[in-house]
Amino acid sequence: MSLPARLIRPVIADLEPYTPILPLDVLAARLGLPVERLVKLDANENPYGPAPRARAALANEPFYHIYPDPGHTRLRAALSAYTGQPVERILCGAGADELIDLILRLCIDPGDTVIDCPPTFGMYSFDTGVCGGQVATVPRRADFSLDLEGIERVASARKAKILFLTTPNNPTGNLLSPAELEQLLRLPLLVVVDEAYIEFAGVGQGFGAWVGRHENLAVLRTFSKWAGLAGLRVGYGLLPEWLAEQLWKIKQPYNVSVAAQEAAIASLEDRAHLLANVARIVAERERLLPLLAALPFLQPLPSAANFILCRVVERPARELKLALERQGVLVRYYSTPLLRDYIRISAGTPEQSTALLQALHTLI
Ligand SMILES: *Cc1c(COP(=O)(O)O)cnc(C)c1O
Repeated sequence: MSLPARLIRPVIADLEPYTPILPLDVLAARLGLPVERLVKLDANENPYGPAPRARAALANEPFYHIYPDPGHTRLRAALSAYTGQPVERILCGAGADELIDLILRLCIDPGDTVIDCPPTFGMYSFDTGVCGGQVATVPRRADFSLDLEGIERVASARKAKILFLTTPNNPTGNLLSPAELEQLLRLPLLVVVDEAYIEFAGVGQGFGAWVGRHENLAVLRTFSKWAGLAGLRVGYGLLPEWLAEQLWKIKQPYNVSVAAQEAAIASLEDRAHLLANVARIVAERERLLPLLAALPFLQPLPSAANFILCRVVERPARELKLALERQGVLVRYYSTPLLRDYIRISAGTPEQSTALLQALHTLI
């Protein structure tokens, strides 16, 4: 047996390699366009960037040479005030992505089952694979609502341990209803509700307020989208105490950097500014919807998040994505069977929308 074959865990050797997103400067060079010309509507990032107080906190931070607080004490206190949950139920991570990974590493032994409801965010199935877990797929229905009976059937047939739900769902933009969650929380598994986009949905604290009332509900959040901190990597979980206690044992002590913790605290202090930007983005999403629908080759879906999923008709979605890219407008395309006829467009600034619409009109 070769050395690599002896060393690498078989479940990893069998994984498909991950295609990383190209850095902006590399893509700009490849397209022959200056970076400033690119209209980046492919990753649901916040075009208004961090809050002024977050920028100031980053510029003035005196302790970059000291390791960060492993207990995230000040950030958790600020999050407790923001979410209404006690600090014992709050744990921070290097993005919500780290919390997805930690929850799976805590619960999933090779062979254990996780339920995934595509089309949805890719990290649930990716991280399950890294743990050697089995992904049981229960696709959403044609209108992208959950197949509740299908989930219940698979949960019991496969003795699934974790169910991931996303609200608003990425990339379909639709919400999970209270009645649906109520029903699914009766299953004997951990329900992880990913609320990465909840600030755009106009539903207040969403299901974050339910944590603690149900022993099997965990809610994940992030500063990447509403607070414009995607590049700093900071998110958090609202968790039942038993789950938080176990996750504390396995997280890396210095998982959230000094910069990320300080910027997140300052973002919460500056939340009026950030929520005004969220309102701008939501208004732009609503303005864009009928303008996209007026194009003969797009059928946009309503969305409660900061992006719009559009079915592409009369031409391959991939070609549309590439034609927009040649004009410097970046949108998200998925080659997966469920989404091959769709593109996802992030809602940005009015100027970005103008560039997007101009590019789309050249393609009629
Ligand atoms: C963007 C996104 C995340 C990732 O959040 P980070 O905090 O940047 O890791 C998590 N879940 C969903 C559904 C997302 O779209």
